[in-house]
Amino acid sequence: MANEILKAAHVEKQAANDGELALINRQTLRALTAEEVYTFRLAACDNQVDRDSERFTEATLEGLASLFVGKPVLMDHLWSAGTQTARVYAGSVEASGGVKRLVLRCYMPRTEKTAETITAIETGILRECSVGCAVERVICSICGANQTETCCRHRPGREYDGQVCHMDLDGARDAYEVSLVAVPAQAEAGIVKSKRYGGKEAPEVPEESGDDEELKMAQAIQEQEEKRYGGM
Ligand SMILES: [Zn+2]
Repeated sequence: MANEILKAAHVEKQAANDGELALINRQTLRALTAEEVYTFRLAACDNQVDRDSERFTEATLEGLASLFVGKPVLMDHLWSAGTQTARVYAGSVEASGGVKRLVLRCYMPRTEKTAETITAIETGILRECSVGCAVERVICSICGANQTETCCRHRPGREYDGQVCHMDLDGARDAYEVSLVAVPAQAEAGIVKSKRYGGKEAPEVPEESGDDEELKMAQAIQEQEEKRYGGM
């Protein structure tokens, strides 16, 4: 999935009350009881410019909230054999302090097989995760160019005439999966300065030195991500 966007998220507590159970049971073949399920929330992406110098628009967050329902929550292969044990049963956009955030509510069955994973979540060992999604448009805040069609010369995080460039991730196209990781999210390990979004190259223009290295690094990181997440 060349255009998959990965973002770090955090695991939070979620009680399994009757309202939540009703939503969970839309995903199941038989009605589960509160004792049979373990629920948790993921505070995923928000509408603020993040460390990748990207920002989800509110419309994108709303779109992702429904697209993520029913999607699998994958466990880091470092942690388990990688079998799917959890699923997103509800998504919503929550506002706090002027920030709009996508919150995904997830459930997993309480079984002998999942007990270890549940303990890891409850004790905070598994608290980082990443969400994978795709968007329709990636809009440059400086010139408005849609990077999925044509890459412009502006680099996210750089300043142009007093304005710092960021990319607006606009229009939810698809939601793929959520991955719980046992180590701090890989997505945060390195800041990708010159990320590519799949658009055609902008016309050749002279660039200051150093950009080539940055670009190569970004491409290498993206290739790694594609391998890791089963690119098509
Ligand atoms: Zn631009």
